[in-house]
Formats: sequence, structure tokens, C-alpha cells
Amino acid sequence: MTTDSALNSTQLNSTRWFSQLNWTHSFLVVSLHICGLLGLWFWPRPIDVALFLGLYLSTTFAIGIGYHRLLTHRGFVSPRWMRRVLTWLGAAALQGGPARWVAIHRRHHQMADKDGDPHSPLMGFLHAHVGWILKKDAKEGSDYRELVPDVSGQDPWLRVLDYKILFVLPWVLTALLSYAIGGWRGVLWGTVVRTLALWHFTWSINSVCHVIGKRPNETRDESRNVWWLGLLTLGEGWHNNHHARPTAACHGWRWYEVDFSGYVIRLMAKVGLVQNVVRAPKTW
Ligand SMILES: [Zn+2]
Ligand SMILES: [Zn+2]
Repeated sequence: MTTDSALNSTQLNSTRWFSQLNWTHSFLVVSLHICGLLGLWFWPRPIDVALFLGLYLSTTFAIGIGYHRLLTHRGFVSPRWMRRVLTWLGAAALQGGPARWVAIHRRHHQMADKDGDPHSPLMGFLHAHVGWILKKDAKEGSDYRELVPDVSGQDPWLRVLDYKILFVLPWVLTALLSYAIGGWRGVLWGTVVRTLALWHFTWSINSVCHVIGKRPNETRDESRNVWWLGLLTLGEGWHNNHHARPTAACHGWRWYEVDFSGYVIRLMAKVGLVQNVVRAPKTW
């Protein structure tokens, strides 16, 4: 009787676990990790390293400068063409459409490390790192574009990326480009391994940067500055600074807080490409 009820409860738990899965995300995450293992057998040639670096840098800048600092926090004002380029390049990082990304990230800032935070490590480190992506969320099936009308608005170039799974389109284009330049090994390093690297570094901002690191600013959450993630994500690792002043376009506030995305925004402001840059304390 006890064995039967234990079995039933295990079945119930696994049924519940399965019913909570976001199948599209789970398929993408699992299959890409399996493909990435091929990298252990097929070491990169110089052309593969060039593809990896070129696409890693451009998509990482696009996520940090475009999805995060421009679309989510409105840290500066850009011309429409630049907003489109940054958003399409950001989608090539395979982190979802812009409206979905922005809605979830704004929710994170509103509820950071409290009930309602989509990815707080208080619910477990693995949940904050990747688990939340594999699960259906509360807004599953609904239109994220309605939650953040300021993001894609009436711009069809942006709206299309939040229609069903069309956010994969720019990523597929980077795969085709990788194939044209470097064949299948080019796809492996320029698209698969590059995407996995950026996934884990971006996910680490949600997990690692709310667990270990320095807290130079008093905030109502557990956010921390992690210098090595600052380097790997081109500036996003200064996460405690960012939580202290989310709209500031520059996340590195002190001379030693290296923030390549912030430097690019400052340079673009200097040459007149972008305007109304929200300044951070101390360095500006
Ligand atoms: Zn955070
Ligand atoms: Zn943010």
C-alpha cells in the first residue's frame, strides 16, 4: 500500500514536471548542448575562431546595448535604424523575442529576489541559471507585445521577432553565414558554441550575480558585482551597480570596472549617433 502510494506520488510529480515544461525552450536548450559537445572532437581552425569571436562580440553587444540598456531601461535614445539592427542582432543570441525578454527583465527589476522574480536564486541556483527557461511561465501563450507596447510598438521589423518562434530567424541567418564562410565546422563554432557561451554567461548574470561578488551599493535585493562576468559579458557583470541605478547606460562606474558596452555607448554619444544618455554616478 505504501509502495503503491509512493509510486503514485512519483508518477504525479513526474506528470506535473512534464506539464510544466516549455517544450520549445527545452528542445532548443537540450539539442544545442548536445550539438555543442561535438566541439570536443572538432577543434576550431583560425576561420572558426574568427567566426566565434565576430559573432560572439556582435551578439553580446546587441544583447547588452540593445535588448538590455536601450529597449528595457531606455538608457539612451537611438535612431530607428540602429534600434532595428541592435534588436535583430540581439535576437541572433537566441534568447527570445525582444518584447518577451524586456517584459521578463523588467519584472526581475520590480520583484528582484522576492516572490514574483522570474529567476531569483532564492528558488535555487539552477532555477535562476536555466530552470526558469525550461518551465512554462505565468504569461505562457499570451502576447508579450501587449505588456511592453513601448518596445516593438508599430515597428513591423521588431514586432515580427515576437510572433510565435520567429525570434529564431536572425539566429538561423547567422548559422547560414557561418556555413557559407566556414562549412559545418564554422556552424559548430560560429553558431552553436558561440550561442552556448553567451547563454551561460547571460544566465550567470541571473544566477552568479545574485549569489557571489561585491555589493558596493545598498540595494533591496541580492545583486552583486562580479568582475570576470563584467569582462565576459562586455559590461553586464557590474550587476549591483545596475540594480542600484537601472536606467544608467554605463554599468561600470569606477575606472577599474571595465564596461565595453558602456564605452561603445559613450563613443556613439560623442560622435552624435545616440542622444539623451542616462549618466551613471562618479564616472560621468
Ligand atoms: Zn538582477
Ligand atoms: Zn536590467
